Amino acid sequence: NVTLRLILGDQLNPQHSWFAHVSPDVVYVMMEIRQETDYVLHHAQKMLAIFAAMRHFSQQLKRAGHRVRYIAIDDASNRQQLTANLEALIAHYQASTMQYQAPDEWRLDHLLAAWGASCPVPVTMVDSEHFYTTRHTVDAQFKGRKQWLMEHFYRSQRRQHRVLMTADDQPEGGQWNFDHDNRKALPATQTLPADMRPQHDHQALWQTIVASGAAHFGDPQAEALRWPLSREEALTQLEVFISQGLPLFGDYQDALSTRGWRLFHSLLSFALNVKMLNPREVVAAAEAAWRQGKVPLPAAEGFIRQILGWREYVRGVYWAQMPGYTEANALGHSRPLPEWFWTGKTRMACVASAITQSLQHAYAHHIQRLMVIGNFALLAGLDPQALHRWYLGIYIDAFEWVEAPNTLGMSQFADGGLLATKPYVSSAAYIDRMGDHCKGCHYSKSVKTGERACPFNALYWDFFARHETRLRGNHRLSMVYRNWDKMSPEAQQALRQQAEQSLAQIESL
Ligand code: FAD
Repeated sequence: NVTLRLILGDQLNPQHSWFAHVSPDVVYVMMEIRQETDYVLHHAQKMLAIFAAMRHFSQQLKRAGHRVRYIAIDDASNRQQLTANLEALIAHYQASTMQYQAPDEWRLDHLLAAWGASCPVPVTMVDSEHFYTTRHTVDAQFKGRKQWLMEHFYRSQRRQHRVLMTADDQPEGGQWNFDHDNRKALPATQTLPADMRPQHDHQALWQTIVASGAAHFGDPQAEALRWPLSREEALTQLEVFISQGLPLFGDYQDALSTRGWRLFHSLLSFALNVKMLNPREVVAAAEAAWRQGKVPLPAAEGFIRQILGWREYVRGVYWAQMPGYTEANALGHSRPLPEWFWTGKTRMACVASAITQSLQHAYAHHIQRLMVIGNFALLAGLDPQALHRWYLGIYIDAFEWVEAPNTLGMSQFADGGLLATKPYVSSAAYIDRMGDHCKGCHYSKSVKTGERACPFNALYWDFFARHETRLRGNHRLSMVYRNWDKMSPEAQQALRQQAEQSLAQIESL
């Protein structure tokens, strides 16, 4: 009377209630399949880290006494498709029931629900026991509204889960959000946290993945695969971050710098998204550090807002808007991604550095994703679906439920402003203010037209001119249009021509 329990590659949560008891009648099923390596072109490190973490997790379950059937990518019996493998296993074990944890991706949720409905044995879905909120919390809060403001959601979560709240139900420090304190550029004298990430050599596994034929790009193991691959490693990384990164996380959250590729960011997104870490313990650790006087309130609040606020919120937006959200293209953009998205070879120093490090580390921090790469893509009118696939493939932490709302909603305004109150775009001035890339750049940050003009400048104005019908009415953009209106028709024309030229030679920017 065997029950099969499926564990997906992003469900590596040893604290799930499934594992509280060992039973000879339960077989846990894990599989490395081409269906999952191939749904988008993936960065080598993303495939490698997920498979390596899965292998580690299966060993851990076995050591705890659980029965585990692990299908490796090169197993002869591997049908390389989720449901085909499940059907074979149900027959093999003569299983009487099959269970799975709620998938976070609509694609897998839909697939398993449809398959389960016609499966000869009962198939049930259980909670993944990871998030603070359900799939439908955000939808229920905002249904019928034109804009879904994260800040509203965040405050309700703070109250409900009593995070950074006083005894009389007020936000600690007398305000909900300390964002205005969190916008500093990195001074040249500021030292950066030491690199304490774990190291792994997974050459053999990498050779197996290559031999399986899975297509890939990016550096397979930049300085050895340095992502936490177990809960123990993830907990160590959390601890190191809380003591070394969090104190200055708030200050430099929005900074860009040639001196470091992660600055004071936590690098915890992979561990969180594959569920080795629970968001509650990460939030609790940050709050405790503040209560013990080890970090300033704006740092703790800023960090907690990303997890209790943004992370839960984008997940809720995803479930409310799927299917369909991944096709959104409100601005009608269709330009193909330039070839240098795959090489980093552009003369725009900020973009080159963000893309190059993404190829090397499968990582870019938020401001690089939003205000450098995403900013350029939106200004240049790149095809949001192609960009969505690029983000989904390249980042170590990219899973559609969190990647798609960030890329299509927050970064590309492709949902027409459901998630972002205005497009996140800027000219060179912002990039220069937040970082030090402009100094050594081929282009000149303060020049708007001519050969050496930073492409962001003319593209910025051209973007607002192109989308005037849709955007002029947005009161958050009234200043932008006032400045545009103040320019002479000749100046406007020169900017638009400059933008046209940049776009015509986008491959050689
Ligand atoms: P930190 O800066 O240390 O932040 C701490 C944690 O907060 C992160 O680990 C993450 O879990 C959470 N977080 C922060 N910002 C967000 C956000 N906007 N949405 C959801 N969670 C957030 N994040 C992903 O996890 N997967 C993605 O595929 C992804 N794609 C993105 C695409 C674009 C275009 C943009 C603008 C952002 C994207 N993000 C994504 C959000 C964010 O950039 C990453 O979570 C963050 O850079 C991960 O690095 P970190 O762990 O060092 O984060």
